[in-house]
Amino acid sequence: MTETQTAVHDGETAVESRGHFINGTVVPGAGEPIRRYSPATGELVAAFANGSPADVDAAVAAARTAFDTGVWSELPGLERGRVLLRFAALMREHVDELTALDADEVGNPRRVARANVLGAIDDTEFAAALAGVVHGDVHTNLGTDFTGMMVREPIGVAGLIVPWNFPTLVLCQKLSFALAAGCAAVVKPSELTSSSALLLAELATAAGVPAGVLNVVTGYGDRAGQHLAEHKDVDLVSFTGSTATGRKIMAAAQENLTRVALELGGKSAQIVFADADLDDAVEGVLFGVVHNQGECCLAGSRLLVEQRIAERFLDLLTERAAGLRLGGPHDEADLGALIHPEHLHKVLRYIETAVSEGASVRAGGHRLTGATHANGCFVAPTVLDRVTPEHRAFQEEIFGPVVTVTRFTDRDEAAELANAVEYGLGNSVWTKNIDTALLLSRRLRSGTVFINTTIDGSPQLAFGGYKASGFGREKGTTGLEEFTQLKTVQIRTGKRAGSFNLLG
Ligand code: NAD
Repeated sequence: MTETQTAVHDGETAVESRGHFINGTVVPGAGEPIRRYSPATGELVAAFANGSPADVDAAVAAARTAFDTGVWSELPGLERGRVLLRFAALMREHVDELTALDADEVGNPRRVARANVLGAIDDTEFAAALAGVVHGDVHTNLGTDFTGMMVREPIGVAGLIVPWNFPTLVLCQKLSFALAAGCAAVVKPSELTSSSALLLAELATAAGVPAGVLNVVTGYGDRAGQHLAEHKDVDLVSFTGSTATGRKIMAAAQENLTRVALELGGKSAQIVFADADLDDAVEGVLFGVVHNQGECCLAGSRLLVEQRIAERFLDLLTERAAGLRLGGPHDEADLGALIHPEHLHKVLRYIETAVSEGASVRAGGHRLTGATHANGCFVAPTVLDRVTPEHRAFQEEIFGPVVTVTRFTDRDEAAELANAVEYGLGNSVWTKNIDTALLLSRRLRSGTVFINTTIDGSPQLAFGGYKASGFGREKGTTGLEEFTQLKTVQIRTGKRAGSFNLLG
């Protein structure tokens, strides 16, 4: 434990209270730290500084100075790329540590947490390669007297506010691209899962990211997060989280007209046609709803199934769901615990409400209370049949291992049902008919359409939402462009009388 960390006790258990990371160094927090208890076992696993507006001010000031002095933004892109490659290599060296931190705080099996950390490393390597590719455009067809240049510049100080469900992955989808573009960043991780962001800041610094370019302030959203979003020295707020908080971020950024990018909630459909490979579709639909125990923005939480195969499909699905294993970070499990007890009860209330509105429980529907699960927030994978678009469970993001089932008869009805929610993140279509696949890919109003797959992705492919799932795109070349702005430079190379059209 370093001098800047203090111990926090809970009975026999003691953890270090982690400080903020500002201007290249760990800064201890003031006041009572935020305690994080394992969602799987109830044990104390971490403690973080409860960041204040003053901590945010210090982090933004460090980022502003670092950006304005050009220590990072003015490096050749290839040099920034080399540092980011070293950062990715250090992440790979610390993959077990990052995995353990995320799994302990999220409550998911390490296997799942590890896959997400590896995804974050892929994103960082891809962003490193892009750092050297950032360029503008030259216009030489403006007439003989003019040359025009469109120059792409880093936007400046980026405020990155991220949620708890995939701490390392969601952060790197922003951070690695922001750094590749030449920005300086202030990160506000979730108060529930802040450890990996702090470790990432140390690794980035060890890789050669200069002091002040990457800062992390831990703390609550309505205090530290809100102050970051409304800060006049922040040039862009890139936010991932719930749609409700996204609205607050926009309101906070309004006064300074700060640019915002929002990755918000989802209520994605899994549309299964009778001509699909049903075994494949069952696996995919199940994965779509239990991956990360359903705490995934892309969760395929609405099954739309063609009427004539509905019963057979549901039999297969419920049989597979019943065989899934639930467990914590140290268990061989398919899915883990929900993030905290209040969320567990919220998910259970959604199930009760659905039943009171006319849904029937085909699988799960309850909390696990046996000896191995009693101290954790475990909900059995749940299939709610006979759900209609009027039901809350059809419309609202439940964020747990719960899938609703609605039957359809043709492609038109399938598309209409899929689009009948406010969200538009990543719908899936399961079919072997190319016409159906292409038609649906056009008709579905979501930022991603998956055909015969789900919750997939790749650093090269842009990711983002339609409708209330947000705007802006992460990953791909667009993911880097999000952190830049265009400047037009118009050069007059000749002098022609009367060219300004003045009378005198
Ligand atoms: P959340 O909106 O509660 O919190 C997200 C972050 O915002 C946290 O760091 C939180 O502290 C902060 N925050 C809260 N109030 C704030 C305020 N007033 N001002 C500034 N910051 C504030 O979301 P969550 O519960 O952490 O995460 C779950 C949500 O995230 C789900 O809705 C999920 O769909 C969404 N999500 C979306 C994506 C995507 O890419 N579209 C990815 C992952 C998660």
